[in-house]
Amino acid sequence: MNTPELLAVDDRCRRSAHFSLIWDKPKLRPLDILRISVDDALVCDDEDPGDYAGARVMELCSMRQIETKELNLYDMGCHTAALADILTTVLRGPTVRLERPADEKLGEHVWVSSCFLEPSGVRLRRLIILDRISEEILTGIKRSWDVIGEACAYKMPVTAQIVIVGQQRDGRRLAPWSKGWLHQVGNQNLRFRKQDGSGLTGSGWKPVFREQVDYLSRDYWIDRMKGDGVLQDLMLEIEIPVPLAEIVKMVTGLAKKKLDRIYSTEKTPEPEISQCYGNVPCPFTSACWQFQEPSERLGFIKISS
Ligand code: SF4
Repeated sequence: MNTPELLAVDDRCRRSAHFSLIWDKPKLRPLDILRISVDDALVCDDEDPGDYAGARVMELCSMRQIETKELNLYDMGCHTAALADILTTVLRGPTVRLERPADEKLGEHVWVSSCFLEPSGVRLRRLIILDRISEEILTGIKRSWDVIGEACAYKMPVTAQIVIVGQQRDGRRLAPWSKGWLHQVGNQNLRFRKQDGSGLTGSGWKPVFREQVDYLSRDYWIDRMKGDGVLQDLMLEIEIPVPLAEIVKMVTGLAKKKLDRIYSTEKTPEPEISQCYGNVPCPFTSACWQFQEPSERLGFIKISS
């Protein structure tokens, strides 16, 4: 777990941060798999990073339990792999692979970044993949350890690159990264919306998911997304400058104090039961709500003794 993630977990519940040093959750959500795969592909040396991202999805699906109500895990894996391929290809573009910044020292601790280092070497980029966006979510991102914490730890501006992949329904995401409309007559034109922005309804248009039409090239799919102007609705960037020196001092001081406590805590903190469920349930609910600690018997994966 990188440092911003650990600090965010600790903000929610100290017990969760304590457990996170020792245990990984039993199941990955499909969005976790997508994030891990795209993150890995952006720094890989593979000739085709998009392909690499898709293969990484399938690898994770075969190695880990998936938190989903879908019965057909193979179809869900293929869908997520196709999405990871398109996302990685758009995000990485023609640039060489991205790099992670070197770990930063913070008192006795090492700050492990969640960002990429821009080729200029003086700016960080944080990729944030979400299923939806709102004003509240945007405000939360601007104040998060992922963004403001990183800007203060490295004293570098951060570009938060937000990608919206859409809600999941019946195991599939409905945003144009994954779903388009294919005309059934003539040259099988692929579209995402009309020029006036309205949806494609009426005779001849059939909804298709990316993994169902792999005879259409990935570049064609992306070109058609650009042609219909949907990319601007699915990607946005927020520029976060380095805060004033006194703010940097306060934020890094707070991070250091919290890390001191997290790493020196020996006795398991009390449960914070009002924090267990929210937009995303805490991964330790299956243990805490049986008044137990995580264990291999409960399906948790030990990452440190
Ligand atoms: S399940 Fe609840 S009490 Fe347990 S670690 Fe998570 S937030 Fe804390």
